[in-house]
Formats: sequence, C-alpha cells, structure tokens
Amino acid sequence: MADVNYNSVVSGLRKEFNTGKTKTFRWRMDQLTALLRLLDENTDALNNALKQDLNKCVAEAVLFEVNYSRNEVITAMSNLKEWMEPEWVKKNLFTMMDTCFIKREPLGVALILGAWNYPIQLTLCPLVGAIAAGNCVLLKPSEVSMNTALLLEKLLPKYLDNDCLKVINGGIPETTALLNERYDYIFYTGNTNVGKIVYQAAAKHLTPVTLELGGKSPCYIDKETDLDVASNRLAWGKWANAGQTCIAPDYVLVRPELQDKLIGKLKESIKKFFGDDPKQSNDFARIVNSRHVDRVRKFVENGGGSVAHGGVIDEKARYISPTILKDVKDTDAAMQEEIFGPVLPIMPVQNEQEAINFINSREKPLAMYVFANDKKVAERMINATSSGSCVVNDCLVQGALETLPFGGVGHSGIGAYHGKFSFETFTHKRACMMKELKMEAVNVIRYPPYTEKKTNW
Ligand code: NAD
Repeated sequence: MADVNYNSVVSGLRKEFNTGKTKTFRWRMDQLTALLRLLDENTDALNNALKQDLNKCVAEAVLFEVNYSRNEVITAMSNLKEWMEPEWVKKNLFTMMDTCFIKREPLGVALILGAWNYPIQLTLCPLVGAIAAGNCVLLKPSEVSMNTALLLEKLLPKYLDNDCLKVINGGIPETTALLNERYDYIFYTGNTNVGKIVYQAAAKHLTPVTLELGGKSPCYIDKETDLDVASNRLAWGKWANAGQTCIAPDYVLVRPELQDKLIGKLKESIKKFFGDDPKQSNDFARIVNSRHVDRVRKFVENGGGSVAHGGVIDEKARYISPTILKDVKDTDAAMQEEIFGPVLPIMPVQNEQEAINFINSREKPLAMYVFANDKKVAERMINATSSGSCVVNDCLVQGALETLPFGGVGHSGIGAYHGKFSFETFTHKRACMMKELKMEAVNVIRYPPYTEKKTNW
C-alpha cells in the first residue's frame, strides 16, 4: 500500500463531496440499498472470512455481524427521510415572524478505522451512519482480521459509489500515514492507547472524533441472585467470540461465600455450551493471532489467584480454553488491564458498597453488569457508578437495541452510535434562521445610538 498517495485519495473524496451529490436523499438511499444487497448476496463469503479469522461459528457470525449490520442498514433506510427533515424549533418574541430550524448537514469526508473482533459489524455499522448522513468515506478495516479486511476491500467497491467511498487496507504504517491527512470526522474503534494517538492527530486539524475504546467492564453478583440463570447469561457474555468482545464482562465481583457456588454453576454453563472439551466445539472461537495468545497467556499463567477452571492453551491452534481465576486480588495482573480473551477473574468483595468503591477507583468502563433479584441493589449500583452502558441481569444485549446509544465514557471512549445516534454522529446540526426584509421599524430599538430609553425598557 506504500505507493498509494493518501493526500490525493482524500482530495478526490473532498472534490466529490463538494459536488453535493452525497447530500441528496436518493444517493444516500441508493448506497444503503447497495450495502444491504452486499450483505444479502455475500453472507456465506462473509461467514467464511470470519471463520478463518476468528473461527467464528455461523450462529455468532449471523447474530453479531451480518444480521446486526443488516438491521442497522434497515433502520437507517426506514427512518432516513424523517432524520433528514429540518427540525423546527421554539421561537421567542423577537423571532416570532421568522423561520427557525435545525438543518442536518453532512460533515464532509469521514475516516473510519475498524476493529478486528467483530470486523463486519464494527466496520459497516459506522459506515451506515456516515452514508446515511451524506458523507464521503475513507474506510480502513483492521489488518488483524485480514481475511475479512480483504473481502471488504473486494466487495465494497463492487456495490458502492467508488468516487465517494474508498477502502484502504494496511497496518500501523498505513494508519499513521492516513492520520496525517485532514478529515471532517474520524471514527475509531480499538484500544485506548491508539485512541490517544488518533485524538492527537485529529486535534491538529480540530477534527471531531468518535473513539470507541475498551476497558475493564465489571460484573457484580449480588447475594440474592438466581445463580443458574446468572451463570448462563454471564458465561454467554464472557465466552462468546472467546471473550474478544469490547463489552464482555471483564471480571466478576462476588461475596466470598458465593464464589465457589458461582464457579460450580459457571462450569456447568461452559459444559452445556461447549461440551467437555471446548476445543472440539464448533461454537467456541479462537484468539485472533499469536500476539494476542501471548497477551492472554500472561493472565492464565500469572493473572493472580488460582486457576479454578480451564487454563488450557494450544498456541499453534490459537486456542485458550474458557478459564476462571478465583480469589484474585485488586493488585494482581489480571486486574490491571483489559483481558479481551476467555479468562474470567473473580475477585471476592464483602458487599455491594465494596464493589461500588472498587469500580469507582478505576477508569470508567465501557459496560457494567449487575446480577441481583433486589431491584434496589441494582439501582444503587447504577446510581453510584458510571460506565458507557449498564445492564441488570444480563450481558451484551444492550448493543442490540438500536434506540440505546453505544459508546464509552472517560477512558472507555468519546461519542456513541447505533441507529439514529450514528446518523447524528456524522451530522452537523446547523442553526438556521430566515427573516424577511420587512418590518424594519421594530429593529430601530437594537441599533445605536443606545439611548437610555432603549436600554431601560
Ligand atoms: P489493534 O491493535 O488492532 O489496533 C486497532 C487499529 O489501530 C489498527 O488498525 C492498527 O493498525 C492501528 N494501530 C495500532 N497501533 C497503532 C499506532 N501505534 N499508530 C497508529 N495506528 C495504530 O486493536 P486492539 O487494541 O487489538 O483492539 C482491541 C481493543 O479495542 C480492546 O481494548 C477493545 O475493548 C477495543 N474495542 C472497542 C470497541 C468499542 O466499540 N468500544 C469495539 C471493539 C474493540
């Protein structure tokens, strides 16, 4: 990719944007329709690429990637007309006779940097918002999920307007070079350290950003909880995609007397989902590459506490079994950085107040989960903490409701998207006021000279 002149790619996109064609309802609908066709006509190829990159099973590929993206496209198509309408605002005495409204305008050229763990969803869902809002787009899928990245590079130009959408593949040097250019919006999904690099690059041009980052998302299990149900939902949220989910429960906080019971139930859930040997299960994903196997290995071998379940690593197969660490302490390695893999540390806490204090002593997480029969406990946990999202008595499901914004707070990110929030993300809300040239007599009051009579009324 070294011979691509990014400056001329961005200039070309800006030139296209300036023709005004992406602003029309027709262009936006045509592109969204084409994106829907791409998803419908290439489901098998997309599923295969996900299988190669992450050993993602068809059910998870359809649920979390292809259908998930389809739903975003369909929502945008169904609501686009309404979203694009001017918003009439309340007026005051001085503007009673004027036409006052908010016009939603595209920003221009958007750079979208996708992520590898859900490489279809996390690349195409921001794209849906950018197109719906009428922008030109430079899209860079994550090089880590290379099979999916190459497929997107091949498919997108076949379906979408090539003058207004460019796909560029590449790694750190290409991302670095791309970030030297000037955009009207940057949408990045990935880790917090690179998020800071993106933010600094954007600051040079005062470019607004969305940063969809990570962090350690806690899960508190209260004493009054149905552990059979909780363990199923927690195990599903943790071990889907082998734990490589940004909103996966990263660690569990539980009362000491419940820890062993919870571990027993989690083991049952793991067995129900993936059988005696999860390596043989079609439904258990692999770690994306050997760099990440090495990263997650640290938590299995030296994460802290003791291995209560799993701990099997096959480096060649990029396999790490569902692993539970018990009696983990806040100073242990597993509690210092995001796990982003199939290892679940359990840290005992005396009560919910200790859980709240612990959560508040850390950076604000992307998600927080509470399992409790007692609604008051759940409400107290929500009111006393902060996170991008929170769910009571389940995991991950918040991401599938498009009427909820998806994004972080503090170190877990800036901005949010999904559904209408995606459209708003790539949109400028332009304040518009249209007056008549009539009735000039009433304006005399605001023109100098500012006599006492004018200022004291
Ligand atoms: P990564 O290492 O693949 O990096 C992401 C992108 O940054 C890649 O395109 C890469 O080329 C680029 N990059 C890496 N180093 C760079 C550098 N020094 N300069 C410029 N560009 C650079 O991504 P990752 O960190 O493995 O992704 C996992 C993280 O992403 C986790 O923290 C996870 O929680 C987070 N994540 C967040 C969301 C969300 O929606 N909030 C979704 C998925 C993943």
